[in-house]
Amino acid sequence: PSSLSFIGGLSSSSSSSMAEKCFKYVIIGGGVSAVAPYERPALSKGYMLPEGTLFLSLQYQLQLVGPNYWCCFSQFLVFTILQEQQDFQAFMSVLEVEEKNYYPSGMQRKARITLILSTEIVKADLASKTLTSAAGETFKYEVLIIATGSTVLRLEDFGIEGADAKNIFYLREIHDADKLVESIKNKKNGNALVVGGGYIGLELSAALKINDYNVSMVYPEPWCMPRLFTADMAAFYEGYYMKKGINIIKGTVAAGFVKEVKLKNGKMEAADIVVVGVGAKPLINLFKGQVEEEKGGIKTDAFFKTSVANVYAIGDVATFPMKMYGDMRRVEHVDHSRKSAEQAVKAIFASEQGKGIEDYHYLPYFYSRSFDLSWQFFGDNVGETVVFGNHDPQSEKPKFGTYWVKDGKVMGAFLESGTPEENQAIRKVAREQPAAPSLESLASEGLKFASKI
Ligand code: FAD
Ligand code: NDP
Repeated sequence: PSSLSFIGGLSSSSSSSMAEKCFKYVIIGGGVSAVAPYERPALSKGYMLPEGTLFLSLQYQLQLVGPNYWCCFSQFLVFTILQEQQDFQAFMSVLEVEEKNYYPSGMQRKARITLILSTEIVKADLASKTLTSAAGETFKYEVLIIATGSTVLRLEDFGIEGADAKNIFYLREIHDADKLVESIKNKKNGNALVVGGGYIGLELSAALKINDYNVSMVYPEPWCMPRLFTADMAAFYEGYYMKKGINIIKGTVAAGFVKEVKLKNGKMEAADIVVVGVGAKPLINLFKGQVEEEKGGIKTDAFFKTSVANVYAIGDVATFPMKMYGDMRRVEHVDHSRKSAEQAVKAIFASEQGKGIEDYHYLPYFYSRSFDLSWQFFGDNVGETVVFGNHDPQSEKPKFGTYWVKDGKVMGAFLESGTPEENQAIRKVAREQPAAPSLESLASEGLKFASKI
């Protein structure tokens, strides 16, 4: 038997034989934390741009997969994207490709890895260590890594009338992105309505605008990205989006879809395309009642071990101890997905050798890009805030940041349009939590404060 298997993909059932297959390690999931080179963030950014799908075609990109993307942990092979891709030119999807094309030549056979595509696991019996696919195949494992990620929240989940209309799009997988791209191309200068003011809402509104759509955004909160942005920060992004011609409708929700969109406050927006980004929920139903849960995810320790022996959970599904802040959290971002995978693999490998490893010591890192803007955030957004720099959305070259201060320490830092060195400096601030001078000094020192740390 092979030593490691990835089982990923929800789209269709497998036609392989019904015989039971046995593996030492099984990973359920073929996404970002399953550590194959999968670049989901590109779906809401470069892939949506007019030229995006052309040069990002999978076949072309697959030729770019080379040894630099891979790192080996002796018998146990793990694939990690070694660097953050600023230009999004390295788009890859394991779910969409032929197994034989996927691995650099010879690597798969040597490493004894089996990649099982288009296979949905519909039953997981953790007591007997058996997984069953939609096609009825069974898979036995010694060690299981759960990497099933999240699925989108749908408007139907909120009981919204007409939410199954054909022109309503969600974005999670490449086939969602392809359907949206096709629809964008079919209508020139159309009207788009974007429901939600989070990551998808902001990134997709920009992408639709760049595709020459008239774009309106609608969200219930008083400002966009309220879980991270302060009112001041949001005022910049909303001002910038309005400057680009995006119409923002705040403080109301889509209450129904007829031919147009019915809003709770009565206004109607005619839309050719509706893109919905109202949040995600972790895919953990398979394991309900078998494994401890916390805060909507699968509870793990600092090594991503769950409450069941030899079962690990990584990426979006894991609720893990956030050592820096002394609480349990779930994080839905790629940096944690990749790092949690690495930590779990190191922990598995070390335990097999009777060794231990250090606890997971994660510093939250989120980022986004839209139009010619690009921000990074590190740390914890708690306490008082201070904004520094130029946050006038009308200015030619805005550049600003925010510090979060709690109990006299700087806990979090945000920077719009920073250089790599400046982003490293704010990362260091969040990691080291230096004593904060007065808010006034922080505001006037701005990035100079970070560069001294
Ligand atoms: P996923 O990447 O979602 O992978 C889960 C995999 O498991 C999928 O392949 C799924 O098909 C498979 N699966 C699920 N259930 C089963 C089953 N029963 N049987 C078999 N297979 C199964 N984060 C950032 O930090 N920066 C960004 O710019 C960014 N952009 C994003 C853009 C988009 C459009 C989306 C949707 C997310 C973005 N994120 C971004 C979030 C980031 O992609 C996720 O946090 C990350 O993908 C989580 O990794 P994961 O491996 O846990 O889950
Ligand atoms: P988010 O949670 O970021 O945002 C969803 C937003 O929609 C929230 O502000 C939410 O408000 C609001 N909302 C909820 N219900 C409604 C409604 N009925 N009408 C209008 N707005 C509503 O999720 P997204 O959908 O944007 O993203 C999905 C996943 O993809 C997340 O895991 C996200 O982290 C990830 N992602 C990350 C990116 C990045 O890191 N750059 C880029 C793209 C996606 P409330 O907060 O009140 O619930």
